[in-house]
Amino acid sequence: MVKYEPLLEIARLDSETDDLLLQISLEKEKPLKMQADITEEENMLGKKRALLKKIKLRNKASETSHTQIQDRIKHIHMNMKTPGLAPKAYVAYESELENLEGENKKVEEEIFSDMQKIELLQKDIEKSAKVLEGRLKHLEEVKARSKEAVTALVKEKDNVLTARMQLVSKLSADEIAPYDRLRSSKKKKVLYATDTPACTACGMALPQSFVKQLAAGAEADNCPTCGMLVYWTGGEIL
Ligand SMILES: [Zn+2]
Repeated sequence: MVKYEPLLEIARLDSETDDLLLQISLEKEKPLKMQADITEEENMLGKKRALLKKIKLRNKASETSHTQIQDRIKHIHMNMKTPGLAPKAYVAYESELENLEGENKKVEEEIFSDMQKIELLQKDIEKSAKVLEGRLKHLEEVKARSKEAVTALVKEKDNVLTARMQLVSKLSADEIAPYDRLRSSKKKKVLYATDTPACTACGMALPQSFVKQLAAGAEADNCPTCGMLVYWTGGEIL
């Protein structure tokens, strides 16, 4: 059993500390989450740039082979005009020409399709890079705001801890020890009021004798089920 009256303000300050710690961790998370999103976007942009490079290289190779095919076609046309060309050779040229025309068509289609892809990708990359630039700028702002907010919250938390220390210094070790032991092991709210014969921390029914003892005095006691400190705020029990 421990007197609960002096613990009420301490418990209130502790709950304030818990809130502040939560706020501090949330504030710290804000820029981290944003940074993670941005890193993902940067990776995506890198992949798009690599793809663009690949398509450009392929396109260059297609252009080279297009030029080679064109040259070969021109060359064959010239050769076919050679006076006294054997009919067999003429037929062979004709057949090669046919193949070359087919190849030429294929290469031209590839070039056209790659040019379209290059244009789309370039536009996409340009847009993504702009968006990313804006987001990076925004991240710097968020980082600065978060740092400021964390500093203010830490200061507030320190003030609450100072106020708590001042209150604790007025108590004897016996008055604070049962509360502090629980608090340091549970790291959360450990003092609960109840006005019914049930523990407000765990919800379990409290034995009649236990409730009577609580109701008789100004002391809190550990719930037989969960161990939290419970005190009585209900009416008189006869
Ligand atoms: Zn309980």
